[in-house]
Amino acid sequence: MFRNFMGFCILASSVLFSCQNGNGTSDSIDDDGFEYTDERFADLQMLRYKVEGFENLTLKQKTFIYYLSEAALWGRDILFDQNGRYNLQIRDLLELIYTDEGVDRDDENFKGMEVYLKRVWFSNGIHHHYGCEKFVPQFSEEWFRQQVSKLNTDIADGEMNTICKVIFDPEYMAKRVNLAEGEDLLLTSAMNYYDGVSQEEAENFYGEMKSNYADKNHPVMFGMNSTLVKENGSLVEKKWVVGKGKYGQYLQKIVEYLLKAREYAEDEKQKVVIDKLVDYYRTGDLKTFDEYSIAWLDNTEPLVDFVNGFIECYGDPLGLKCSWESIVNFKDVEATKRTETLSKNAQWFEDNSPVEPQFKKENVKGISAKVITAAILGGDLYPSTAIGINLPNSDWVRKEHGSKSVTIGNLTDAYNKAAGSGMRNEFVYSQTEIDLLDKYADLTDDIHTDLHECLGHGSGKLMPGADADSLKNYGSTIEETRADLFGLYYVADKKMTELGLIPDTEAYKAQYYSYMMNGLMTQLVRIQPGNNIEEAHMRNRALIAHWCYEKGKADKVVEMVKKDGKTYVKINDYDALRGLFGELLAKIQRIKSTADFAGAKELVENYAVKVDPVLHKEVLSRYEKLNIAPYKGFINPRYVVEKDKNGNITDVKIDYTEGYAEQMLRYSKEYNAGH
Ligand code: ZN
Repeated sequence: MFRNFMGFCILASSVLFSCQNGNGTSDSIDDDGFEYTDERFADLQMLRYKVEGFENLTLKQKTFIYYLSEAALWGRDILFDQNGRYNLQIRDLLELIYTDEGVDRDDENFKGMEVYLKRVWFSNGIHHHYGCEKFVPQFSEEWFRQQVSKLNTDIADGEMNTICKVIFDPEYMAKRVNLAEGEDLLLTSAMNYYDGVSQEEAENFYGEMKSNYADKNHPVMFGMNSTLVKENGSLVEKKWVVGKGKYGQYLQKIVEYLLKAREYAEDEKQKVVIDKLVDYYRTGDLKTFDEYSIAWLDNTEPLVDFVNGFIECYGDPLGLKCSWESIVNFKDVEATKRTETLSKNAQWFEDNSPVEPQFKKENVKGISAKVITAAILGGDLYPSTAIGINLPNSDWVRKEHGSKSVTIGNLTDAYNKAAGSGMRNEFVYSQTEIDLLDKYADLTDDIHTDLHECLGHGSGKLMPGADADSLKNYGSTIEETRADLFGLYYVADKKMTELGLIPDTEAYKAQYYSYMMNGLMTQLVRIQPGNNIEEAHMRNRALIAHWCYEKGKADKVVEMVKKDGKTYVKINDYDALRGLFGELLAKIQRIKSTADFAGAKELVENYAVKVDPVLHKEVLSRYEKLNIAPYKGFINPRYVVEKDKNGNITDVKIDYTEGYAEQMLRYSKEYNAGH
């Protein structure tokens, strides 16, 4: 069962394009000397983001952000445990070896372990953050056992054997989230949301809970804040609440800092938001969580806002259990004018979309859109993060109260600033397209994100009796496809130039070109040879690109051409391509509105999953020569509090100098509530 709407979307098309040269080069430094790129390892590049405007906030706002950021950092270990039951134990051992003064740092095993640990930090566990496959350690089990034996830990032999099996046996806990059709998705996934429970058992358990729930129009999000375990043969739900059980001590600290922050809230409504959240963390009551979401939606005035909670359901193959995450942010007033324009015209976009009339919303409601500046990233948003947010997840809350949509301006900006020209020069068909991208791509990509988040996810409606959950493992791909198509269709609309959001009628071509090139070719750089496409956003992009390519083949709308032995995407008819985007949007909306599982399956399996091995090989080898890291993530800034002799906060300063390993080790130490 997948939820109707996903929370934070990772709109990574721009991320891919914003790839930089191997080692932070001078073009990733801005006029103020701020360096956007930091270290690089494995398939990862670390970046930094600038919290533009923080200095201009009031002391009260800065203090508010400081306490909220502490609450954001206290949940890190929760996510590690959610991602796999041995993650924290493994991280602790690796950190002990890493910081051991006696260890031989020149040993190849140590170097291999260092990279492994850096990847574990990045992924909040031992599986790849995006592909979900387990890391292959570049150090030997023998060496690892030797180091651990030198460490004075009280680890038992049996425990050590298990940990070694988890790290070194490639077959054991191989995938964090397995979405393969026809397998028991729970028993074959290493995520830690269920214990000894089969897919069928879990589906029946929550299916029953749902059908027994009295208020059919306002169902809570069953199962989102608990572990489902089997005890003496029967299923028991263990809720994550303050002070007891799993995560109890961590939630205790989170609540402590939320309450400190509360004193600096910007208005009374914001205090209510915090009170509801604290109440929910204490009781685990999901009705209270819905009340919190409604209060949060209603609180649009303050400059500073935050998300703190169990939000994302990508980490559970059934899409029920939510991973912990947090972001603290403040509004970018100037850039917000852009999304406000879209939001004000939401009904026009709904009415004029190519979707069949019966699937349109008569009243598009409560789309609040803004551009924000991220101040801290935590949990499932750190270090790998989203650049657009649309919350809450609850269908009925969205329907009756709307949603908050944001794009995170300073993160997108950091990606763009760190970008090099390598990808463009290698994969773009000709100078015409390169010029087009240079001129417009940053802007049109932002606009596409805005459309996706502000309007795309919020558009359309379900038919009476249709249950979006019945799209199951195809649900999130279909939902992301829908939002992306909405953006693609409208980025080319003359309404956009009328509204002053797009400068001219050529600009959209930059988005079309980069989207098709990414969906047909360049996103394959993120896939290991021989693997299929798994991640929902990647599937969505493949689906759109391949479907349009196939449908337009006879008219040569989009071609895959060879030049000097290399394959390129060539778009011959941008206008016809827009027509195809519109056609597919109508089709996807029909599938969504009628919860047509067979239709969803057919599209996803035919267009979104399989990879052409020959093209894949070519793309990988061209990409390898560019020496670019396919994934990026951020090092957080550090907030340093200044106090007077009475202990009152007199200022909060921002420090960007902390290194990646330094930050990770500090977080492991300072935000450890005893796991
Ligand atoms: Zn999305």
